[in-house]
Amino acid sequence: MPESRRLFFALSLPTALQKQVIRWRADNFEPEDGRPVAAANLHLTLAFLGDVSDQKAGVLREIATRIQSPAFSLRLDDLGHWPRPGVVWLGTRRAPLALLQLASLLRSHAARNGCHQSTLPFHPHVSLLRGATRPVALPAATPQWQLDATDFSLYESRFHQGRTRYQCLQSWPLLAAPPLPG
Ligand code: ATP
Ligand code: MG
Repeated sequence: MPESRRLFFALSLPTALQKQVIRWRADNFEPEDGRPVAAANLHLTLAFLGDVSDQKAGVLREIATRIQSPAFSLRLDDLGHWPRPGVVWLGTRRAPLALLQLASLLRSHAARNGCHQSTLPFHPHVSLLRGATRPVALPAATPQWQLDATDFSLYESRFHQGRTRYQCLQSWPLLAAPPLPG
């Protein structure tokens, strides 16, 4: 059997933003609301690949290397709860076109390489709490953080000793906006 690893493409959160998010989360949620996602695990999934052989992962890495997508910023100004699968999430009310295009490109390459893609529409979000299957009182005020996406990454997800950890395998830059004339 060839080796396979559980992989996904995602945007990471800078450490400063991770800290702001977990501080706010600690102030606004109760322990019974759900399991807090570890600060270092906070991310926004672009395309989930599932269990992928090293050979196929190599093909997808080559494709990622050729992607020329613009950098973008998104406001994390939306908050929601999906009782199934039990996730409290931070999202955006206005997803930038560049984010939607990048996710769509990665998903279509993934599908073409045999990675099954969900038929649900892409809903960009950062999972904050998992196991949140009971009703949750969401805070009335939604934070207004900004996430500046200057690169995207391939992560491996591993479940070990009762915990899920992600390891960043590789990152690729997004193209900086050209300077304004004059
Ligand atoms: P765990 O499943 O161990 O509780 P997790 O969901 O964070 O933790 P993974 O299941 O490996 O870890 O998922 C990695 C990322 O891919 C997460 O952002 C998850 O929401 C997303 N993901 C997982 N399965 C799918 C899927 N079938 N379709 C789309 N995204 C998925
Ligand atoms: Mg999962």
